[in-house]
Amino acid sequence: MHGYISKLPHLTDAPSFPRRLCVLGATGSIGASTLDIVSSHPEQFSVLALAGANNVKKLAELAARYRPKYLAVLHEDGIKELLTLLPPGYRPFIAAGESAYVALATLPEADVVVSAIVGAAGLAPTLAAARASKMIALANKESLVLAGDLIRYACAETDAVILPVDSEHNALFQALSGHDTAYVSELILTASGGPFRDKDAGFIAAVTPAQALAHPNWSMGAKISIDSATLMNKGLEVIEACHLYGLPADKVAVVVHPQSIVHSLVRYADGSLLAHLGPPDMRVAISYCLGYPLRLPLNLAPLDIVALGKLTFEAPREDDFPCLGLARQAFQTGGGATVVLNAANEVAVELFLAERIGFTDIARIVEAALCAHEPCQADDLESILALDRETRDRVRMGQG
Ligand code: NAD
Ligand code: MG
Repeated sequence: MHGYISKLPHLTDAPSFPRRLCVLGATGSIGASTLDIVSSHPEQFSVLALAGANNVKKLAELAARYRPKYLAVLHEDGIKELLTLLPPGYRPFIAAGESAYVALATLPEADVVVSAIVGAAGLAPTLAAARASKMIALANKESLVLAGDLIRYACAETDAVILPVDSEHNALFQALSGHDTAYVSELILTASGGPFRDKDAGFIAAVTPAQALAHPNWSMGAKISIDSATLMNKGLEVIEACHLYGLPADKVAVVVHPQSIVHSLVRYADGSLLAHLGPPDMRVAISYCLGYPLRLPLNLAPLDIVALGKLTFEAPREDDFPCLGLARQAFQTGGGATVVLNAANEVAVELFLAERIGFTDIARIVEAALCAHEPCQADDLESILALDRETRDRVRMGQG
């Protein structure tokens, strides 16, 4: 594992414009920001395929607007419902289930696959897109946490391209542009600290899902909002950064930056720090990926740095937010531990959102799952998905 995860194209060998997009997770938060960019740049992008899960009404609205040739939903019933909601005369191909997402991710006509399904469900289509030599705008960090090496091998075999949507990794990508990672002494991921950054342990133990969902700076899907509150999101992002940039975890630091303006920094061997700053708006990172290597104009209010006044940085409180350390530990352990970490976390977040466990139980459940795990070989898709399923079953059983 050395250097960036994939080759990066020059303008001459990148897909030409207009680019045809396949958006997986189209009905979510990243999906909405992606389609907003498409609407602002109709001459640069067209929508070839849209995939959602259960929110069929939303998918139908998007389909009526963007008229993709292909649609996918999670369940067969969704197809019938979708057909009743689509405008007369518009008849796309519609498929259902996990194989449908893989089919859309590998469509020969697709130029860019936006991987924005949440959770481990994003892995199979992302890996399929890499094996099909696609340019992938990768939001689904979980696929790197589960199978970073597999995705790296697939990119080496097919010349697929990975472009990081996650704002920190996109910031690093921009700050690393033109520099060899051999000169990097450290990547510094910034974290907002989430809604409980300055709360004491007693407060944190009693927080409700509504409080945990109220992220101070970013508007995101429910799962990543909870991950931001526990700092598991930053833990997953440390692993994501190691896989993307081919660096060991001790070269990836985390610093809390409550304003979310500095999206991350690269420290070079000569002491230089190159940072990427911008408004906390995912469209900045997404448009950089969709247009790569061009930088498309975005009609966002310019960041007023004088009005901001100051930017502050502090160390994360790892004792009160143990998920960050658990993620580092899982990456260090290897042997499937990051699969267990992710699966246990996904189930724990679901249980917390359903008000069946408390906030601090999330870290407790993840830690227990990691302790119970015997390192094993989880280096192909089937064994990774099997370990993911086993862990989910075990955690659910443990919570009765
Ligand atoms: P979201 O919950 O808003 O949307 C998730 C999307 O995935 C929806 O379209 C949903 O229908 C679909 N989906 C859910 N379960 C599915 C399944 N089993 N099979 C297929 N599709 C399924 O989530 P989001 O906030 O847009 O996040 C998407 C991904 O992007 C996550 O991996 C997240 O970590 C990452 N990300 C998000 C942000 C952000 O600002 N929202 C920032 C960085 C990274
Ligand atoms: Mg992020």
